[in-house]
Amino acid sequence: MIKVSQKVTESAGLIAEIERRTGQRISDCYQCGRCTSTCAGSFAFDRPPHVLMRMLQLGRVQEAMESKTAQLCYDCMTCSSRCPMNIDVAFIIETVSNIAHEQGVKYTIKSMDRFRKLFLHNVRRHGRLHEASLLASYNLRSLQPRNDFSLAPLILKKKKKFHFFPPRIRDRAEVRRIFEELERDPDYGRGFGE
Ligand code: SF4
Ligand code: SF4
Repeated sequence: MIKVSQKVTESAGLIAEIERRTGQRISDCYQCGRCTSTCAGSFAFDRPPHVLMRMLQLGRVQEAMESKTAQLCYDCMTCSSRCPMNIDVAFIIETVSNIAHEQGVKYTIKSMDRFRKLFLHNVRRHGRLHEASLLASYNLRSLQPRNDFSLAPLILKKKKKFHFFPPRIRDRAEVRRIFEELERDPDYGRGFGE
């Protein structure tokens, strides 16, 4: 008889729990990568969303819980809205993060709350994400102005995706109105430590 290790059993239990809480089937993902290609935050992740999905399929739950992705995903839900299999990827990542909290997983990114807060402030201000100013404000607030400088050549190569000047969008006021509406909810922003 094959002896199933405790670790494998624990992983299977966690996968079942993630599926139970989200109502999603992780095995439905066929690795097309669309979630990652539409994720504005993946530049800061160590495991892009489709890789995180693959890790879950392989039972590497602990690694997924400890990933920067679980710590930094800001639930914008773009990935969920673009998945051809209608998988709610954002909900899965959020659940991985919640279970990590419950399991006492220590986050390596102490400034996660700062990043989330600055991200939302950035979207509110520009109407959509402006990566350059988000990076600049995050580095300045972290007192590490040269952080990620080594990525500059890579970023410059992706000029079409990385805009140095804020985007001009219509209905910026409408985005601001949505934020004002959200801020009326007493639970909004709960958990932002700083
Ligand atoms: S978009 Fe959906 S099917 Fe494609 S990799 Fe992401 S989760 Fe999987
Ligand atoms: S919900 Fe998270 S993973 Fe999905 S697109 Fe937004 S930031 Fe990326």
